[in-house]
Amino acid sequence: MKKKIIILPGDGIGKEVTTEGKRVLEKIAEIFGHQFEYDTALIGHDAIETTGSPLPDESLAKLKSCDAILFGAVGHPKYDNDPTLKVRPEQGLLKMRKELGLYANLRPIKLFDELLEASSIKPEILKGSDILFFRELTGDAYFGEKGRKDDGNTAYDMMIYQRYEVERIAHKAFQAARTRRKKVTSVDKANVLESSRLWRETVQLVGKQYPDVQLEHQFVDTAAMKLIQSPRSFDVVLTGNLFGDILTDEASQIAGSMGMLASASIGDAVGLYEPIHGSAHDITGKGIANPLASILSAALLLDISFGLKEESNGILEAVSNALRSGFRTADIADARTPKEKILNTRSMGDCIVEQLSLTHATVNH
Ligand code: NAD
Repeated sequence: MKKKIIILPGDGIGKEVTTEGKRVLEKIAEIFGHQFEYDTALIGHDAIETTGSPLPDESLAKLKSCDAILFGAVGHPKYDNDPTLKVRPEQGLLKMRKELGLYANLRPIKLFDELLEASSIKPEILKGSDILFFRELTGDAYFGEKGRKDDGNTAYDMMIYQRYEVERIAHKAFQAARTRRKKVTSVDKANVLESSRLWRETVQLVGKQYPDVQLEHQFVDTAAMKLIQSPRSFDVVLTGNLFGDILTDEASQIAGSMGMLASASIGDAVGLYEPIHGSAHDITGKGIANPLASILSAALLLDISFGLKEESNGILEAVSNALRSGFRTADIADARTPKEKILNTRSMGDCIVEQLSLTHATVNH
């Protein structure tokens, strides 16, 4: 298969982890006989420093003409500590999502058995948890009318959804459920909010087209409780922008560390794949960032954008094998991890590449 992939490192540890994600993609191409062509583009703080814009036109043009994007993260302490700065790295991220029509954020929460002890939740509750979130990205209180009145003493953010926005992501969630355990839990607050009543009504109608998939509805407060109480009861979770933002961060704790979680943002064209973590200024340049979230993002890219299931599963297996062999980066190590098994960013990348070589013979091409 011949495909063009843009590597969009961004800022901070984004550069360090995408380097390893790319190396794993290169190894997969070598093993399975694919031709992946790579290019890079600027976004975030680096882009502002070089061009004045957090997402220059040249970057956007490249992103629009590729087959998939492997993104790192944006952010710099300069902006975190000065909210008055008008041009900011995260504007590049929001503009990119909007321009590429990325309306669904997929976040798989899969716990590797080897990391059961890394979570603050009891292992017997967690074991076997495997949840796929679909968070809507273009509507809700984030994009509704907002403002202040009464001399600045009253503020409002309108929570707004249009039927087509709910329909398109609901279809994606039901289609994904068909390839999994065939259950969708739609999360809303339909007992109080009109936008949630439209959400529920629309999801019910879409659900009728997927009679083989079980549909249940939960209020967001109940869902927040059940995620910790019985995470195994969830398969696909479908929810709006604000509830999804909160619930997916809550659910990240099921997997133990931010450094392990990948996400995909998809629409009707090119897909964007990124770790859920940010640019982590506190560890930037030390070479100790966990690259597994970026490597797992590369696995999602192969599966979702290119339909390369075997290749994607190969990466998951390699990560699993590395963890089973006791290898850890510092963020997922514990008191029992021997010093020699604590790897830095580069050596964890090496370890995954080596695991891939061990389990797959290179195709002759
Ligand atoms: P963060 O995710 O960057 O870091 C939170 C904590 O987790 C830090 O202690 C960090 O060292 C640790 N961590 C994160 N990823 C890790 C990894 N791969 N390996 C090991 N440890 C890891 O969140 P933050 O500190 O709140 O934000 C830092 C910057 O990132 C800010 O400028 C913020 O705006 C930006 N940010 C960007 C994105 C994005 O680009 N999608 C997302 C979140 C935050």
